[in-house]
Amino acid sequence: MKILISNDDGYLAPGINALADQLSSIADIVVVAPDSNRSGSSNSLTLDRPLRVMKSDKGFLSINGTPSDCVHIALTGVLDERPDLVVSGINQGQNMGDDTLYSGTVAAATEGFLFGIPAIAFSQVNHGWAELDSAARIAKDIVLRNLDALHRPFLLNVNIPNRPYAELTRTVATRLGKRHESEPVIRTQDPHGNEIFWIGPVGKVKEASEGTDFHATEQGWVSVTPLQIDLTHNAQLERLRQVLG
Ligand code: MN
Repeated sequence: MKILISNDDGYLAPGINALADQLSSIADIVVVAPDSNRSGSSNSLTLDRPLRVMKSDKGFLSINGTPSDCVHIALTGVLDERPDLVVSGINQGQNMGDDTLYSGTVAAATEGFLFGIPAIAFSQVNHGWAELDSAARIAKDIVLRNLDALHRPFLLNVNIPNRPYAELTRTVATRLGKRHESEPVIRTQDPHGNEIFWIGPVGKVKEASEGTDFHATEQGWVSVTPLQIDLTHNAQLERLRQVLG
């Protein structure tokens, strides 16, 4: 089995190293990841400058681009063979509900899925890398549990509570929850007195009822959400057809 591994925290991040260590025991792995932290880059591709591939001492390939760039270049220009699976992460911090639209971690997996390859994005719920080895073992378990389904593309979004492996006894299928709108932008000044802005924190959780990713991880369970890419709002489509004729 061949697995392509990427992330959005960059190839030096503890999360991708832990994931690569675990998955190398069950598959031939190739790591192709951004050379710096590109969290929040969503599905962007770099089209205004050339991209370079560098090889690290550990054999990881890094690219001066986004997570989507990395998977795209790996699949179309670097790998000799098509991988059986694309995995992304393990991200530092949760990607649940509306986060999935902004996430570079989910985007890297999505890029694989768009090429018709099964893909899984992994994130730890809390920042700080606590219990990272536990999360990497869970990631390996989830890959192994999906081996029989690799003949057909799927896209899974996994969020893992920062808990010891022995406490992560339950893994559940979930739907995405929802957040309130983001917190306000942070307005400040640069050293020259010019106004500058920092994008503010994500919004508070709004929809965390039973069955959602937010609810599951709040119980201490591992959350696995199957994602799709078609954003068409079918109910609105009917309304539009009536309006537009
Ligand atoms: Mn990240």
